[in-house]
Amino acid sequence: MRIAVLSLGLMLLAGCSSFRAAPPCFIISGGTSNYQIVIPAAESGGRLQPLLQQAAEQCSTLLQRGTGVLLPVVTEDQRDPQRPGIYLGQTARARELGLLPEKFSLWEHQVLCRSGELFLFGDDRPPLTAGSGRVHYTSVHLGSVKALTVFLEKFAQTAFIAGDAEWISILPQDCISVPEGFTFRAVPRLQYSNGRVTSMFYDLGNGLLPAPWYGCYGGHSHNVAIPPKKYFDSHPEYFQLFKGKRVSHPTRPQYCLSNPAVRELIYQELLQHLDAGYEMVQLGASDGFIPCECEPCRELYGQIPVAKPGEDGFRNDPAWGEKLWIMHREMAQRLLQDRPGKRVCILSYGPTLQPPRTFTSFPENVTIELAPYRENLQPLWQKFAVRDGFVTYIYNWGGYQREGMTPHFTWEKCRTQARNFLKHNIKGIYRCGFGELFGLEGATYYIWAKLLQNPEQSVEKLLTHYCQHAFREAAPEMEKFYRLLDSRIALTIPGEPKNWDDPALLDGEAPASPANYRLLALRYPPQVLAELEGYLRAAEQTAPELELCQKLLDFARLEFDYLCLTAKAVQACNELRRTLSPEANRDLIAAVLARNQFIASQKTTRDGTRFAPLHGRAIFGNSLVSDMYQNGTLSALLFGPLSWDAQWWQDKQMLLAGRDMDTRAEGEYLLPINCRSNDKLLNASGVTVKCRLAENEFQVIFTIPGPRQFGGDKETIIVQLGQSDTGSPLYWYSARLKPSGVSHSQLALTDRDNNGQGSVYRPREMKGQKPANVTIQETEPGVLAIMHIPFEHFSDSPKPGQKWIFNATYSRSFPEENFEGIWNYNIQQRNWRHRWDLPGTLTIAQ
Ligand SMILES: [Zn+2]
Repeated sequence: MRIAVLSLGLMLLAGCSSFRAAPPCFIISGGTSNYQIVIPAAESGGRLQPLLQQAAEQCSTLLQRGTGVLLPVVTEDQRDPQRPGIYLGQTARARELGLLPEKFSLWEHQVLCRSGELFLFGDDRPPLTAGSGRVHYTSVHLGSVKALTVFLEKFAQTAFIAGDAEWISILPQDCISVPEGFTFRAVPRLQYSNGRVTSMFYDLGNGLLPAPWYGCYGGHSHNVAIPPKKYFDSHPEYFQLFKGKRVSHPTRPQYCLSNPAVRELIYQELLQHLDAGYEMVQLGASDGFIPCECEPCRELYGQIPVAKPGEDGFRNDPAWGEKLWIMHREMAQRLLQDRPGKRVCILSYGPTLQPPRTFTSFPENVTIELAPYRENLQPLWQKFAVRDGFVTYIYNWGGYQREGMTPHFTWEKCRTQARNFLKHNIKGIYRCGFGELFGLEGATYYIWAKLLQNPEQSVEKLLTHYCQHAFREAAPEMEKFYRLLDSRIALTIPGEPKNWDDPALLDGEAPASPANYRLLALRYPPQVLAELEGYLRAAEQTAPELELCQKLLDFARLEFDYLCLTAKAVQACNELRRTLSPEANRDLIAAVLARNQFIASQKTTRDGTRFAPLHGRAIFGNSLVSDMYQNGTLSALLFGPLSWDAQWWQDKQMLLAGRDMDTRAEGEYLLPINCRSNDKLLNASGVTVKCRLAENEFQVIFTIPGPRQFGGDKETIIVQLGQSDTGSPLYWYSARLKPSGVSHSQLALTDRDNNGQGSVYRPREMKGQKPANVTIQETEPGVLAIMHIPFEHFSDSPKPGQKWIFNATYSRSFPEENFEGIWNYNIQQRNWRHRWDLPGTLTIAQ
C-alpha cells in the first residue's frame, strides 16, 4: 500500500474519490502506477485466453489514453510478485484467496478490491463446440470482461460509445482509485440482448449480452427443419395445399402440419440443435403463415376454423394459431422426456401472437418469445404458468420501419419499454434492427441500454453523460441537436402497427403509402432541419480533434445530410401534390436529383451493391444501395417518384404531373403509372406520345422504338380525352396495339363519387357515330401506333387555344419485359385504383 500512501497528497489536489474506513487503493495516480494487469496463464485460460488478452490490452491502451500511464499486461505465471495487480478473469490468485464462487449464475460478474489489489471476474464459459480455432466474443460468456467494463465505468470515467478501441471514451484524469474492500456483485436480470453485434466492449459494457446457449434461428424453425430444396420434389405432400396444389416458397414455405412426418421433422430439428450443445432451442412457424387447405389440417386438434380455405379471414381466425400452440406444446412435452434439463423457446408471433385459448400451462422447459411484446396482451399472459418466463423480439429500430433510414425511437418509448420489461419479467431480447444510425441514434441506443438496467434513471443525465463523452466541448450543441430530434420523432400519424408476418408486406406489396411522406414531412419541416443543421454545424466547429468525436460527427453528418435530402424531396413531392405547378415539378426534380446524387456518391463495396464502411464501420446498417433510394424496406418504402431516375426527367426536360401538351409538341416520354413500379424498363423502352389534329379527328401517336414482338397482342394503349370547357364527359379509348376495334367508355363515377375507390368508366352508347380506330405504321426500327378519335364524339370540335383533358397510357406485358407508362402521372394516388384519376391538359394549337 506504499503507493497509495505516497500519492495521497497528489490525489487530494486532483479532487479524487472519497475515502471511507480504509484508504482507497490508487491504481494510477500522479502520472504513475505500480500495477500490472494480470490474466490467467495460457493453459488455464483455454480458448477464452485470447479474448481476455485482447480485453486486457485494450484496457491498458484505454487507461493510457485517459491518464498517460501504461499498465503492463502479463499472464499470471509471468506476473511480478512485487507489484499489485488488476486480476482479470478466473485467476489462480482469486481462487487462492477464496474469492471465486463455487458456481457462477448466468453472466454473474464481480468487482472486488482486496488488500490493494483488484479482482475482476465473472461467469466465463468456453464455446459450445470443441475445436481450437479463434473464438468470437458472441459465442462465449465473458462475465470477467463484463466486470472489467463495470470497473471502467465506475472508476475510470469511461463510456462505451459506439464500439471498441477509439470508439470507447475515457475522460482525461490523473488518478484512478477504488475503495479498499469494495465489493460489487451482479447477475443481470436481462440474460441476453442479441441481434446485430457491435463489438465486445460496447456490447458487454452496455448490457447487450450474447446468448451462445440459445439456439435461435432468428425467429422461424419449421423452414429450417424442412427446407423445400431438400424435400419439395420428393415429398410435395409435406407442403401446403394451396388452391388445390402443393406449393412452396423460396424463403417462407408453408407446411401441411397435419402430416405426422412433417411434425416429426420439426421435432427432430429441435433435438439436433440441442444436441449441438445449446441449452435452449427456438420453435416457431415459418414466416408469413398461410394455412394448408387440406381437410386433415382443417380438422387438426379439433380446432375448426370458421374462415374457408383460401379466404384471407384465416388471419383473424384463432383456430390456426391454436393448432400451432397445441402442436408446439406437445413437442415441448416430448422434449421434457427426451432431453431433460434442456429448454425450448416457443414463438408468439403472427398466428400465435395471442396466447393459447385451450390451456393455461406449459411444461416447465418452456420459455415464450413475444414477437412483438404487446403491453395489452400482458393481462392474458399473466394467467400462464411459464416457469422460465418470457423473452421478446423487439422492433425499435431497423430500416424496415416507416421511418426507414431516419431516426425511430423516442426516449420516452425507451423508458416505457424498460419499465414494462422489468414489470413483466422479460429475460431476454432479440433486437430486430439496431445500430443503423450511430450518428443520429447513438445516444438513444445508449440511453435505452442503460434504462433497461434501471428504468428510473434520469434520461437527461444519461444524455448529458453520453454527449460529454462522445463530443466533449461540442456536447452542449449535440444535446440540443438530440433533444430537438427526439421531440420530432415523438410526432406521429396513425397507421401503425403492422402485422410483420403479413405475406403481402413481406412480398413488397404494401399499399402505396402517402403516409410515409406525411410522416417525414410532419417531423422534418424546413425550419426544423435548419435548426438541427445549426446545432450540428456548431458542434462540428467546437468539437476537439479527438478521434472519437471526429468520427462520430462524420456519422452524424452523413446520416443527417441523408435525412435532410430525403425530407426535402418528400416536402417537394407533397408540394407538387398540392399545386401541380411547373415550378413544383422543377423543385421536385431538383430535390430527387440531389438525393439520388448523394446516395450514388457514397463509396460502395466492390460489387456496388452495398455501401463501403466509413471509419471501419458499416453505414446505414449495411443496407443495399438499391434499398436506400426507397429509404429502406417493408414499411419504409418511399415509392415513386422518390425512387425514380430524376436525371432522366431532367435530361428529357419532362414534368411529372400537371403536364400540358400542345398539339404541335414533339413526342413526350412517359412515367410509370403505378407509384410502386420501377422506371428502368419504361425509360429504356423510349416510348413517347404526342397528339395531332387532322381534318376530322385527333390522332394520338405513340412512337414505340424497337423490333415488333407478339404482333401487338401484348401491348395496350389507352387515351383519355375530354372537353373541359363544355363539361362534356371524359372519354376513355383502349385498344391492343394492332389495327383493331377500340373499346370506348365514358366516366361514370369520379373517385370522390366512388368513395375514394377510383373513378369508374362505363361503355358508351355510340348511336351510329364513327368509331375510333387504331392504325399501325412500321418505322425503322419500331412502329407508330395511332389512335384516331373523331371530333364527332364530342359536342364541339377543338378550337385553337382551348384546353382539353388528356392522358395517354402505353403498357407492355412481354414475358421478360413488363411495364405500364402514363404521360401525366397521378402523384396524388393512394393505390392502384387511382392511376387514371389525374389526367393532364391538351392545348389546341393556334
Ligand atoms: Zn394439410
